[in-house]
Amino acid sequence: MTRLGFGVLRLPSEIRGKEIVYDEDKSIDVIRYAIDAGIDYFDTAPSYCGKRSQSILGRAIAGKRDQLYLSTKFDTNGPDLMNQFENSLKELGTDHIDFYHFWSMKLDYFADKGLAKGGPMDQMTKLKEEGLIGHIAFSSHDTPENIMEIIRRGEGRFEALLCQYNLLDRRNEEVMAFAKSRGMGVSVMGPMGGGRLGRPSELMDVLPDGTSTASAETALRFVFSNPDVDIALSGMNTRAMIDENILAADDPRPLSDEEHKHIDAVVEEKKKLTDLYCTACNYCMPCPAGINIPEVFKIYNYHRIYGLTEYARRQYALIGADGDLDFQNASACTGCGLCEKQCPQKLSIREELKKAHEALA
Ligand code: SF4
Ligand code: SF4
Repeated sequence: MTRLGFGVLRLPSEIRGKEIVYDEDKSIDVIRYAIDAGIDYFDTAPSYCGKRSQSILGRAIAGKRDQLYLSTKFDTNGPDLMNQFENSLKELGTDHIDFYHFWSMKLDYFADKGLAKGGPMDQMTKLKEEGLIGHIAFSSHDTPENIMEIIRRGEGRFEALLCQYNLLDRRNEEVMAFAKSRGMGVSVMGPMGGGRLGRPSELMDVLPDGTSTASAETALRFVFSNPDVDIALSGMNTRAMIDENILAADDPRPLSDEEHKHIDAVVEEKKKLTDLYCTACNYCMPCPAGINIPEVFKIYNYHRIYGLTEYARRQYALIGADGDLDFQNASACTGCGLCEKQCPQKLSIREELKKAHEALA
């Protein structure tokens, strides 16, 4: 299995009016190019690319299925598991899924419904016994503590974890080490900050001078320097991006101590600026309108502090029922003011949420 996996969620597309239109021919070309270049791990989900990711991937891999590892997901907010699983098999044109994930799972859900007798975990276990699933896995954006608790409660049944990790977002480092200590495989999403962190102009501020001539390479090398990472998923949509990422993934040089220290210092400096703003203490939570206030501010900071506007917008677009981030965006604020009474930073949360929404929506 290659260290670089293909995240099938940012296929070639164009925006027409309010709609994102996916270019199927270009998408198939890019996926086949990746296969020919040696990438053998493809990660999709029923909801990706306007619900077309699985079917496009299925067409692209026709005739090559046997040389690939396929990962897809069970949407815990969607129809029942068997419906979703059968639909995934059909769309992907396969008779088995190598890695079947609970998608974006929260501890509350897992403890209550995921582990219920005869529920999704039992159903997945049965599918695995029948050879229809290779490995049971989960992805999560929950807190590190909660992800570790999910691992504990699913011990002996989960074999792999998918979580967010890149040089700006390292909160899951302990989680990944914990997963590895329990014998699980670890794949990470967003290794280059949703594809945009890899652009040299946008990383100049974050990466030290002379770390590398190509910051995409540095961002990936950073992720692969962590021995707890087995696979880094990158959402690639051009042949050039595939070439660039493969070069980085094939680079055997881990980041040097000096490079690590330099990156840590720059990121720490930036972090101070973000902490001055919102420390993610969660005192303002829960918001009755369902907004994850610190999470919205974290995404806003990618734009405000790091200048990663495109990345921040993509993250913001994932918020909501159809997105990866299961909460409301800032536009849901009713102005009740409960949050501001609790904020030790004395933030004008309502005002800042408005600004965040204006900048990122
Ligand atoms: S003011 Fe807005 S963000 Fe704050 S608690 Fe009320 S609805 Fe939530
Ligand atoms: S209470 Fe203030 S500092 Fe704490 S998470 Fe909420 S907005 Fe951030």
